[in-house]
Amino acid sequence: MQTVRVATFDGPGSSPTMREVSKPEVPPKAALIRIAACGVCGTDLHILKGHWPKPLPWPFTLGHELAGVVEEIGDELAEDFMGQPLEVGSKVMLPPLMPCGSCYYCVHYPETANKCLTPVYYGRYLGFEKPPHLWGGWAEMVYVDLGELPGTKVYKLPDDMPLALASLSEPLTSCIRAFDRAQRAGFFRVGDTVVIQGSGPIGVLAVAAAQEMGAGRVIVVGAPEKPRLALCRRFGAEATVSLEDHETPESRIEAVRGMTAPFGADLVMDCSGHPSAGPEGIEMLRDGGTYVEMGQFTDAGAIETNWHRICTKDLNVLGSWAFTANDIAKGIAMLDRARDRYPWSEMQTRFPFTEEGIGEAVQSALDMRSVKSTIVPAPDLADG
Ligand SMILES: [Zn+2]
Repeated sequence: MQTVRVATFDGPGSSPTMREVSKPEVPPKAALIRIAACGVCGTDLHILKGHWPKPLPWPFTLGHELAGVVEEIGDELAEDFMGQPLEVGSKVMLPPLMPCGSCYYCVHYPETANKCLTPVYYGRYLGFEKPPHLWGGWAEMVYVDLGELPGTKVYKLPDDMPLALASLSEPLTSCIRAFDRAQRAGFFRVGDTVVIQGSGPIGVLAVAAAQEMGAGRVIVVGAPEKPRLALCRRFGAEATVSLEDHETPESRIEAVRGMTAPFGADLVMDCSGHPSAGPEGIEMLRDGGTYVEMGQFTDAGAIETNWHRICTKDLNVLGSWAFTANDIAKGIAMLDRARDRYPWSEMQTRFPFTEEGIGEAVQSALDMRSVKSTIVPAPDLADG
């Protein structure tokens, strides 16, 4: 095959267009990766709604939760970021945001290298000659070149990890880092009662991460019941509070306070991104509890808040944005370790790699009919 099919969008609100681009030569520090599966993320949906604050290089290829197999690899790209050997046939994933390793933040604040000043995205995209482009997993292949962009990071996956499962490693890592931040600060302990606000894919994965990292009880506030809240309970949430049954913040706070009587939850994490989640979640906490904000990463819909309650309740508030390069390996390891403990595949709704399939994957995610829409360019590889 001398060409590679990539799905591109011409701009916000456009439908996917399948394009064929020429297959590149692979230099010594580069690799071509055949994509087995790639999720649809809330960030992709924001971009398609035109919410991205900066100019984007339209047309381009979306998708950054990818898992695939090394198709071709240069002689000098012998190891992944963790020092594991890479060869043709190795299963791999690539995170969308890769700290450069050399800017002021990367050098002086490695724990927050997620705020790298000059981050690297997947090397160079097929068909687009101006590197770096942002996203590209909704394609048959992606191309990386560490010679051109040394900050690029490839992570080897366990040989026996199904690649559809592996496509959850990037969003799971975001959840792990958020709890990890609270643990390192001493604010998340074994047996703690955790409330998750939001029942989208990040909310569901946070239910698993919370339990794997020691939570005693997990309660989810979200909607709709089917498929999302039902799936949260399948993942081990002790209870769910539905926005359909509890339409006001007061009603939701009362429901959670009743379940966490007499003092309230130890930790509340916002995975919803809704601007009112913070003020609402703070009232679900016990005094001295901890609020983790990982959902709201835009200033869309900023509202008047009860932020003074952070003081009167003596709270800890932590932000957690994406992850650093060292967090990814934890995500892969947790997925591998907990492979049989959660119904991971039940959160994924699969769509074929066609213009119609990709359009439907996006629409299902927007309509909340799916939890994690997953585009599958190589069905024969996705389960292997
Ligand atoms: Zn950097």
